[in-house]
Amino acid sequence: MSTFKGICQEVPQIRIDYFRASPDALPPLACFLSHAHSDHLQGLESFRSPFIYCSAATRELVLGLEKYPHRINFAKGILETRKQTYAHLKKLLIAIPLETPTDIELTPEKAIRVTLFDANHCVGAVMFLIQSGGQAILYTGDIRSEPWWVNSLIRHPILIPYATGVEKLNTIYLDTTFASKQQPYHHFPSKAAGIQEMLDKVHKFPKHSTVFYFDAWTFGYEECWMALSGALQSRVHLDDYRLRLYNATKVPSLVGFQIMFGVSQNANGNTEDVDLVRITPIVSRHDGCEIPELGVGGGQSDLSHTCEFDMNDSASFGQLVALCASKLNNEPQLLTNIVEHLNAIAKDGHTIQLQLPGPLAGDQITDSDASTPFPLDLVVEALVKAVQGHPQLSKPTETESLRKDGLPRVIVSRSQ
Ligand SMILES: [Zn+2]
Repeated sequence: MSTFKGICQEVPQIRIDYFRASPDALPPLACFLSHAHSDHLQGLESFRSPFIYCSAATRELVLGLEKYPHRINFAKGILETRKQTYAHLKKLLIAIPLETPTDIELTPEKAIRVTLFDANHCVGAVMFLIQSGGQAILYTGDIRSEPWWVNSLIRHPILIPYATGVEKLNTIYLDTTFASKQQPYHHFPSKAAGIQEMLDKVHKFPKHSTVFYFDAWTFGYEECWMALSGALQSRVHLDDYRLRLYNATKVPSLVGFQIMFGVSQNANGNTEDVDLVRITPIVSRHDGCEIPELGVGGGQSDLSHTCEFDMNDSASFGQLVALCASKLNNEPQLLTNIVEHLNAIAKDGHTIQLQLPGPLAGDQITDSDASTPFPLDLVVEALVKAVQGHPQLSKPTETESLRKDGLPRVIVSRSQ
């Protein structure tokens, strides 16, 4: 989760990955966005200027993102939804090609040179090398720092002077998501090892009668899809929303997925013999337990059906509390926790963000579903989950539910 406030002391005229106003600083003259995970987009909803520079893929993903602000309709017992996008940024988001030093004029007297490098994180994610007035900084954003990737960086023609010590980086602004954490976050498998483990498990299933459903709720699993597609000699099928997003990136390996979400037919068109197996990504394992994926590097639920609604309306607030009370009358402590949670949000004037049950295989999700109302009971369920939090470690899930042939219905993959 990014906690960076956007300002680099060497170049205070710019902002990176943070788009809210900074009361103690002058407004920025240029902004930069490392990737499309939501924790790096803070403030973009109401952002009006100046230009934001990013990779071409990130530009297309951000412009395609949809959120679902909700208005609670207690009379009908539903959440009414409408679609909202970052369309207002269309003229402000400027794509810069990777590995191409690009001069950006901040004022007639001051320019900076920016070079983007792939961050080995999710589609479109980049680092920024910024050179300005004899100074140089590297802003990494979220990275997956594997040895092969570091080796490729220090051999890069533009970075060689810094790798050899001929030139000096004044500061590296480094993502440290796991650096300060204790066990079990010290050791991670390589992404390649995680993908190989997933493929080994997948190959145990009957090839022509199994449909694999990959639980991808944010950007960053693209290599898993490509690996599965290659190994199974199958297309990857996406719902309308994801298909639009990935096609827009124009990343060759991610373009051309076919709409067929809710796959219920095998290659022969036979719908009866198809078994569905879920693939659930995890961060790693430790002492026989699984470390769940909670939005590593941010972006938790970026692609899920997240609802968002204001807590400024005191009438709605009261009705929401009453609704929770009616559903949770046997669980006073849980109700108390939820009311405290809602109070804290209302006091800060924030919106509630809750993850509603997302589309599952078998559901057909189309554009028209953006306006489909959700029953309010789902809000209570989502609030319960929000206050109970997620377990840090969980017992292995693969043995919980087995098919007739002894293979698991859920396989777990260390793969982001
Ligand atoms: Zn990220």
